[in-house]
Amino acid sequence: MFFIIGTKYKDKLLTETPSSELCMNCGEKSKHIVVRERKYFSFFFIPIIPLHTRYVFKCPACTYSRKISRAEAKEYCNGTGMLDSGLAYSDN
Ligand SMILES: [Zn+2]
Repeated sequence: MFFIIGTKYKDKLLTETPSSELCMNCGEKSKHIVVRERKYFSFFFIPIIPLHTRYVFKCPACTYSRKISRAEAKEYCNGTGMLDSGLAYSDN
C-alpha cells in the first residue's frame, strides 16, 4: 500500500485595480490584480489542509508580483488601497 502526499498551490483572483498602474518591473501600464495564494497539504493530489496563505499584487503583463499584507489586500478589495503604496501609482 502506498500514499501520494505533497503540497499544492491554489490561486484565487480577489480583485483588479480600477485604473491602469505602471509596473515597476516591465514599465507596462495595465490593470494589476490582487491574488490570494494558498499552499495546501495534498493527499492523492487533492488539496486537504491549508498550510500557508499569502497575498500578492501582480502585473498581468510580466507576472511580476510583490507580497502584500492581508490588510493591504482587503484595502484593494474595498477600493481604498494603492494610493499611498509608492510602488504603483494611478495615471488619472
Ligand atoms: Zn510588469
